Amino acid sequence: MEDCIFCKILKGEIPCDKVYEDDRVLSFKDINPEAPVHVLIIPKKHISSINELKEDDEKLIGYIYTVAGKIAKQLGISEKGYRIVSNCGEDGGQTVGHIHFHFLAGRKLNWPPG
Ligand code: 5GP
Ligand code: ZN
Repeated sequence: MEDCIFCKILKGEIPCDKVYEDDRVLSFKDINPEAPVHVLIIPKKHISSINELKEDDEKLIGYIYTVAGKIAKQLGISEKGYRIVSNCGEDGGQTVGHIHFHFLAGRKLNWPPG
């Protein structure tokens, strides 16, 4: 947890370009955007990956989707559309060990992903 980049962002030790924040969740622009809109949504609680989720976390993870809807509205892209992605583990492409949700929009996204 001490070495977790996203916990450092939460503590203000690493700056971020904030998009949304409340008591449970922080959202900020991805440093290496893959789309015109690429923000990350993270819970303030450190959970290293989907594999570590407990029953107690169900509300929090559901809440993140509610926040995603709010962010879409805030950015004016609810109607155009967007994609929420959470990578898990090496094959899933996860590089940061603090569960997070990519919010991607602003261009036609390919399916299936590479
Ligand atoms: P993952 O590869 O784990 O699914 O996603 C991690 C994401 O975090 C990547 O898209 C990467 O660009 C982003 N990222 C890594 N370090 C930082 C950082 O210090 N600040 C911000 N804003 N994004 C970061
Ligand atoms: Zn963390």
